[in-house]
Amino acid sequence: MSEQSEVTCPFCGSTETELFSLFGQQLLTVQYYCRSCRTPFERVKDDTVLDEYVARKEEEQ
Ligand SMILES: [Zn+2]
Repeated sequence: MSEQSEVTCPFCGSTETELFSLFGQQLLTVQYYCRSCRTPFERVKDDTVLDEYVARKEEEQ
């Protein structure tokens, strides 16, 4: 298991979040989805996000 950074939901504080889309409404944001309160939210895209996305893709194969 690769260690992934935890993204905290800004609404309920849960870390039960998942990367939903690499493309948010703005160029430098990505969309996350909170499994706890079922709310999508955006986060500024950074290297951590991209690493997490790549790791997820590798797991799917
Ligand atoms: Zn939440």
